[in-house]
Amino acid sequence: MSESRPPALSASSAKSFLQCPLQFRLRFVDKIPEPRNAAMLKGTLVHKVLEDMFDLPRPERHSERVIATVEKEWEEVAARTDMLEVTLQDTSPEELIRQAKELLTAYFELEDPRNLEPSGRELGVETVLPSGLRLRGFIDRVETAPNGAVRIIDYKTGKAPDMRFTSEFVFQMRMYALLYRETHRVLPRRTQLLFLGGGNPQVLTFDPTNEDANQFAEEILEIWLEIANRIESGRFETKTSRLCDWCYFQNICPAFGGTPPEVPPEKLAYMSQIGPSPSGNRNS
Ligand code: SF4
Repeated sequence: MSESRPPALSASSAKSFLQCPLQFRLRFVDKIPEPRNAAMLKGTLVHKVLEDMFDLPRPERHSERVIATVEKEWEEVAARTDMLEVTLQDTSPEELIRQAKELLTAYFELEDPRNLEPSGRELGVETVLPSGLRLRGFIDRVETAPNGAVRIIDYKTGKAPDMRFTSEFVFQMRMYALLYRETHRVLPRRTQLLFLGGGNPQVLTFDPTNEDANQFAEEILEIWLEIANRIESGRFETKTSRLCDWCYFQNICPAFGGTPPEVPPEKLAYMSQIGPSPSGNRNS
């Protein structure tokens, strides 16, 4: 993201902060680049196939025809990726393509795209809430029924979560609902995540209400004010969890004996523009 663009909070950056404030700082304030891995590239490939699938005439949107596009789509994804910066570990491109095809086969167990005509694909949405907080997101697909009812769809290439642990995914859907309502003046009737992985494709559905969108606007502001407190002090604490095993920053994390670099003041100043300052908010 270019620094000429105003900074904004996204579902993934808010989630990263809730997971670990230091991880948020290193990823979104310092913007230390993290190498892309095979799972990320596979996600990019599957999303691209599913996006481009809707350029096909409706009768051609069947599994055989769509899955046959994977090799060509891979060439395009690989061409625009610096493969030297990708850690494929022991996953060969052929294996990655095979896994992508498996995920697409799973997709066709959930939907028949011959019956669908999206009103939006890879839709960038951005708004500034009345509180002054700027939010941004990308929505994989939007459908608008003849009666105006809107459905928002997001593809997940991982496996569906245990139904006891869906809160982080519901968080994302609440964010999409608020973003869409604020940018299009229409509250989506339904938001859905399509989980394609784990050999057991599943749909997670959340039907938002205006009350919930208002409530979420307050909750996300509270999260921002927590972040803004750290930005003001320049101190982002560690928060260890099982997820540290997957954190790229372990080698510079104090919880694991490392030392993070000093955070550049201009980067803190830039990020502080996302929303209101904690002191200003307390006085209002
Ligand atoms: S290793 Fe764990 S505690 Fe350290 S920055 Fe990463 S998520 Fe935070």
